[in-house]
Amino acid sequence: MATIGFIGLGNMGGPMAANLVKAGHAVRGFDLSEPAIEQARKDGCEIAASAKEAAADRDVIITMLPAGKHVTAVFDDIKDVVRAGALMIDSSTIDIASAREAHEIAQSIGALCVDAPVSGGIMGAINGTLTFMAGGSDASLEAAAPILEPMAGRVVNCGAATAGQAAKVCNNMILAITMIGTGEAFELGRRLGLTDQALFDVVSTASGQSWSTTTYCPVPGPVPTSPANNDYKPGFAADLMLKDLGLSQDAAGMTDAFTPLGAHALELYQQFCDDGNGGVDFSGIIKVMQTAKKV
Ligand code: NAD
Repeated sequence: MATIGFIGLGNMGGPMAANLVKAGHAVRGFDLSEPAIEQARKDGCEIAASAKEAAADRDVIITMLPAGKHVTAVFDDIKDVVRAGALMIDSSTIDIASAREAHEIAQSIGALCVDAPVSGGIMGAINGTLTFMAGGSDASLEAAAPILEPMAGRVVNCGAATAGQAAKVCNNMILAITMIGTGEAFELGRRLGLTDQALFDVVSTASGQSWSTTTYCPVPGPVPTSPANNDYKPGFAADLMLKDLGLSQDAAGMTDAFTPLGAHALELYQQFCDDGNGGVDFSGIIKVMQTAKKV
């Protein structure tokens, strides 16, 4: 059993902390939001009055926060109370530069550090089946493995510091591009007289196959559990996809990587969100193909 400080008990962090409690760890949590705190208390977390109090003298500190600026501010705030040799895990999805800064803060106080963003969404957090993409030193990754286990379906060790965030932005850039392509193809198919089911039966077993078709098909019918069957309720909201596409374009800018489709996907999701669809599942981007005309 480890003593864990958990900072950021929102949609993802709340159920992740609850799974750590269920696994027998002593979790002391902190969040700025009263409802998040109340839920964490019900889930068996001890509640701290500040991030510092949550982190003080713990074996492990986990952060699950909205963006890079929150993570670096919290790391900076708690650095004086984290004990040397403690393990700091940031599971937020953040920009590479902030992830690097978080590692540097941890290193400056003699703490181990892992960037470990996740995929699998809120259901994955509740069910303890998240995929963690982890980056850090060998010693940090080894120390993190048993802590992540109760929250994880799978932990992929991606490499050195920031490799987890790198994998996350690359994966989600592919996801956005394939979802847009899948939406284009299903709408073109309809206009050519194909049924959605016929196109699904081909694509799901042919070379156009991807997760966007087989698990998350953006038209109702072929995959009954996809958000298309539930009026595009998330799932994974378009504004979160937009955030991740921004992170991948930041990373492309930093490295001079040529990512024209990633850049175009960002523009399409930006427009979709600006039109009031930020809370719609990201597969709802197919509505753009269904309503827009070729120019
Ligand atoms: P959320 O907004 O529900 O939770 C974030 C929590 O952080 C909030 O409760 C907020 O009050 C708290 N917070 C903000 N600043 C704080 C501070 N200084 N100290 C303490 N608490 C603070 O967001 P979420 O959906 O839980 O997402 C968390 C992270 O996980 C994000 O980086 C997101 O991109 C990533 N993520 C989310 C999903 C998803 O499906 N929701 C999937 C994968 C990754």
